[in-house]
Amino acid sequence: MTSSILPVYARAPLAFERGEGAWLVAEGGRRYLDFGSGIAVNALGHSHPHLVAALTEQGAKLWHISNLYQNPLGERLAKRLAEATFADVVFFSNSGAEALEASIKMARKYHAASGHPERNRIVTFEGAFHGRTLATIAAGGQRKYMEGFGPDMPGFDQVPFGDDAALKAAIGPQTAAILLEPIQGEGGVRPVPPERLRAIRALCDQHGLLLILDEVQCGVGRTGKLFAHEWAGIAPDIMAVAKGIGGGFPMGACLATAEAAKGMVPGTHGTTFGGNPLAMAVGNAVLDIVLAEGFLDHVRQTALLLKQRLAEIKDRHPAVVAEVRGEGLMIGLKLHVPNTDLVKAAEAEGLLVIGAGDNVARLLPPLTIGEEEVAEAIARLDRACAQVEAGMKAQTQAPAAKIVGAAA
Ligand code: PLP
Repeated sequence: MTSSILPVYARAPLAFERGEGAWLVAEGGRRYLDFGSGIAVNALGHSHPHLVAALTEQGAKLWHISNLYQNPLGERLAKRLAEATFADVVFFSNSGAEALEASIKMARKYHAASGHPERNRIVTFEGAFHGRTLATIAAGGQRKYMEGFGPDMPGFDQVPFGDDAALKAAIGPQTAAILLEPIQGEGGVRPVPPERLRAIRALCDQHGLLLILDEVQCGVGRTGKLFAHEWAGIAPDIMAVAKGIGGGFPMGACLATAEAAKGMVPGTHGTTFGGNPLAMAVGNAVLDIVLAEGFLDHVRQTALLLKQRLAEIKDRHPAVVAEVRGEGLMIGLKLHVPNTDLVKAAEAEGLLVIGAGDNVARLLPPLTIGEEEVAEAIARLDRACAQVEAGMKAQTQAPAAKIVGAAA
């Protein structure tokens, strides 16, 4: 059957009917342990009863009001986010890319409002991923996402990941901000070491630049802190958030200090759906759980256990796994074999993991998993690695078999 959906995705031949916690149930009934969480979105797993209750209760009351009227649920969520972070104000969007668009506009507007409209360039890093809008593909700087879409959106200067000299050299009189992910997600789970993040913060302060962090993937408890930058003991001026903040309901947010947001006065930005009551109800419900006492401790403990067990997998399968890296429950397995081989082998074992750049397989399980799910995932990953090894062996033996066949 040909699909009527625009074919921009290379989808796996799998369709799911329902989800329960860390498990997805496919059509036909097969159960998969979901260590991808819809790319770090289902932070509380599937069908979490508190989120289902929040959504259905709100669904029976009011779905949409637009931003023409007061938004009490949004006010509450913004206040809670502000209280829990560096931020004073929050703009709600529907996606990560839109949260980034708001962040980019805000940084430029800040300098314009400060009398320096010429300061409109933003330094970004190779390997970054900030979304698929025209501005965010330019910010990400990956040619494969920009090719064929007309002139590149101007205003971004990209430097190699981890190259401090290039970063300093890229800062000029037109620079407005530095934008980065504290842990590159799509780029292959590449963490920025805390000391480098602190140095980038200092560089921003020295040059009057705004620090914009993209915590779309690594935020909302994923690393065991509410936001990943907290590990470095620094704060950004602006931060883009999405994915986990809605627990599966599409929403994003741009958080900022009052100073950074000073140019964003009525009429400067907006969205029809952003801050929709359904999203705000679910967002508040996500925070109820993520901010509850002990939740982030649980994430850190589970992460430690998972990392230890993954180190064992690496030791048992050194021809497959080269490195285990990441923070909290955002883990990358850098591989010796093509990452697609391991992703497929894991899927055959009923474990969902996700490929990323730099030949990495990503593990982004729900933050709610415990020892049982860790043990189950490790057993399945162990078998998947063994399958990949068996495939490698068969391949190296294949030419000999062919010669034997040819001779016969
Ligand atoms: N920023 C990061 C770090 C991401 O991982 C993503 C999506 O994967 C985005 C931005 C874009 O988010 P969205 O797909 O919701 O637009």
